[in-house]
Amino acid sequence: MAVTASPYASDALPEATVDVVVIGGGAAGLNGALMLARSRRILVATGLTDVLPEVPGLAEHWGRSVVHCPYCHGWEVRDKPIGILATGPASTGHALLFRQLTEDLTYFTHGTCLDEDTRARFTARGIRIIETAVKEVVNDEDGALAWVRLAGGQVVARRILAVATQMQARAQGLEGLRLPTRDLPDNMGSGFATGMAGTTEVPGVWVAGNATDLTAQLGAAAAAGALAGAHINSALATADADAARHAAPDGTRP
Ligand SMILES: Cc1cc2nc3c(=O)[nH]c(=O)nc-3n(C[C@H](O)[C@H](O)[C@H](O)COP(=O)(O)OP(=O)(O)OC[C@H]3O[C@@H](n4cnc5c(N)ncnc54)[C@H](O)[C@@H]3O)c2cc1C
Repeated sequence: MAVTASPYASDALPEATVDVVVIGGGAAGLNGALMLARSRRILVATGLTDVLPEVPGLAEHWGRSVVHCPYCHGWEVRDKPIGILATGPASTGHALLFRQLTEDLTYFTHGTCLDEDTRARFTARGIRIIETAVKEVVNDEDGALAWVRLAGGQVVARRILAVATQMQARAQGLEGLRLPTRDLPDNMGSGFATGMAGTTEVPGVWVAGNATDLTAQLGAAAAAGALAGAHINSALATADADAARHAAPDGTRP
């Protein structure tokens, strides 16, 4: 998955109106590519951007030593000193999942709240809690993530930081479609609102994958793209049959 969006090259542009334009080329985009063409239907599959907290030194390790998903990265981070850099209520569940992967887990509250039940759970599971704000992430001489520096200057040795990112559907260039969005609770993110098979309130526009289902992984994103593709094809088949019927209103074939 691309971490930052870049300008997108287009394929050779067809002169005529095409059946479907797929915007986004990931799992849900069925490996399609953006084509600037007139289209009868549009499938938006632009994925999402993971927004990290603004902590100096954090972003450069994204996807390697700064991770968000215990299922995606579990094998690589197992048994290492892991820190949870809390961003909100979702981080507490995150901590319990990463605790399955290591005995050495530190929870940096970083300005978020912890209720008494959660504190008790953390204590029972041997999760250390640090409430001083995180100031920066510090590398060792090889450039690997090595320490977390706190506001008071104290450093805490960590090799991995897990962050529940804020997830934002990629909408660059799509503003003109005026697709409605919907938010996850607790400021966890925002995606395009869809109904059955990726349909939207905008006629002719479907959305699939992380652009609408922010927590989908590869399998779910690809399946959603395939389902939306089939639904679009079905709509086109019906539209073609209607067009043929209107072209020959007496029921004769042209
Ligand atoms: C660090 C990391 C590790 C992960 N590891 C795993 C894992 O191990 N297993 C797993 O199942 N999932 C994993 N995931 C999640 C997985 O990557 C996503 O669920 C999946 O890629 C979603 O597919 P998608 O097609 O919806 O979006 P994406 O794969 O993000 O594809 C969207 C595509 O659209 C393009 N695009 C965006 N905007 C535009 C635009 N305006 N015009 C044209 N193109 C555009 C993007 O460049 C991108 O190529 C991981 C995610 C991250 C961030």
